[in-house]
Amino acid sequence: MINDVIVVGGGASGLMAAIAARKAGASDVIVLEKNTTFGKKLLATGNGKCNFTNLTLDGSCYHSDDIDRTMEIIKNFDQAALLEFMGSLGIGIEYRDGWCYPRSMSAVSVQQAIVSCARRLGIGLKGGKKVLDVKKSGGTFRVEVDGYTYVSKSVVLACGGFADPKSGSTGEGLWILNHSGIRIKKPLPALVPLVIKNNPLKKASGVRIDAEVTLIVDDQEISRESGNLQITDYGISGIPVFQISSEALRALDQKKSVKVRLNFFPDYPPNAVRSLLEQSVSNASENLLPSDPGRLLLMGLLPEKLAEVISGMTSSQKFSIEDVDPVSMANFAEKYMTDLVLEVSGSRGFENAQTTSGGVYFDELDENLSLKQIPHLYVCGEEVDVDGVCGGYNLQWAFSSGYTAGRAAGSL
Ligand SMILES: Cc1cc2nc3c(=O)[nH]c(=O)nc-3n(C[C@H](O)[C@H](O)[C@H](O)COP(=O)(O)OP(=O)(O)OC[C@H]3O[C@@H](n4cnc5c(N)ncnc54)[C@H](O)[C@@H]3O)c2cc1C
Repeated sequence: MINDVIVVGGGASGLMAAIAARKAGASDVIVLEKNTTFGKKLLATGNGKCNFTNLTLDGSCYHSDDIDRTMEIIKNFDQAALLEFMGSLGIGIEYRDGWCYPRSMSAVSVQQAIVSCARRLGIGLKGGKKVLDVKKSGGTFRVEVDGYTYVSKSVVLACGGFADPKSGSTGEGLWILNHSGIRIKKPLPALVPLVIKNNPLKKASGVRIDAEVTLIVDDQEISRESGNLQITDYGISGIPVFQISSEALRALDQKKSVKVRLNFFPDYPPNAVRSLLEQSVSNASENLLPSDPGRLLLMGLLPEKLAEVISGMTSSQKFSIEDVDPVSMANFAEKYMTDLVLEVSGSRGFENAQTTSGGVYFDELDENLSLKQIPHLYVCGEEVDVDGVCGGYNLQWAFSSGYTAGRAAGSL
């Protein structure tokens, strides 16, 4: 039997591609998924709540070699279309500062509704089918699964990247394309915690604090993000770190010097922090025991573990309040509390990443995400060289690109 469309990978982009292909008129659409569950990664998104899009979306929310093409694909099935689609599945919307979730705040509601929609459309969902290769032979594609070959007029590759490999995304789609001669930008982890060289904050592991994180590449400020920072034994994590991680790791891969500057007082102008410290030092010298440790001066301003680590960064580790000269203490603390520069040496890898940066270059793809070299073989989702920042942008990309590829594949 020759299928109209075979979709390889039953994640967010693959399920959307199959639905779009069927709605575009294809009769026989099947999805081959190596897991027995479809949309497994969807279940983990947004801490189990599924932040699937965002009311504010523009090119600055994505990294890619071609942001214009990224935005053209998104326009084919934008936030409004995605919200309408969710509504058509009976999913109410919860808005949190523009970040969109199902009203249930439960990812399983999204996953089950999309799978149910695919079944309702008569799409063949075939779980436990790991695709090993895709070959074009004459006018059709031969899709090889262990012990069986499926045949189709068109194929959508929606195997994801390398992020969160336990969900099933282990880069096989990119491997299949690479060995067919398709150019692929080196895949790297993105939205991932960063490892700090000789982490000086190690003893403050476990502290969570609102902070501003600035990415510095080869001594140039590249981007700046504020939010809840998590200090860990290996380095730093949390949304502001995830937001800069894609650019940081691409720069590191290019052997550039990558640093972050932490400001633990993001809402204070620099001079205000300095005045605060001078005042604190002068008050302490009048009201605290002279023999008490200097870190007491910082404990009213920072979480205890962090105050201890920062006060330990002085040349004299065991200074006491009587040793403190207000101006030098204010200089010192201002430096380490608002301008702490750390060297990034790596990341926590694909196991801890939410997405993949890199993938198939847009140059290889036409406006419907079909490969120029292999017409009717489409690519979507994380396999394409697009990664979004936190806020629902990666799922929006998965759904928009899946829609674009599936609609074209199904219209043949
Ligand atoms: C913990 C976590 C939280 C996240 N939270 C959010 C969030 O809140 N908002 C957001 O926008 N994004 C979030 N993301 C990112 C988002 O989930 C992904 O970008 C998106 O799911 C990618 O969709 P995809 O279809 O390209 O790939 P995937 O969802 O990875 O799907 C690919 C599918 O292909 C299958 N597959 C792979 N190889 C084969 C093969 N050889 N044969 C058959 N099947 C194969 C895999 O098993 C998998 O099911 C999160 C990611 C993680 C890991």
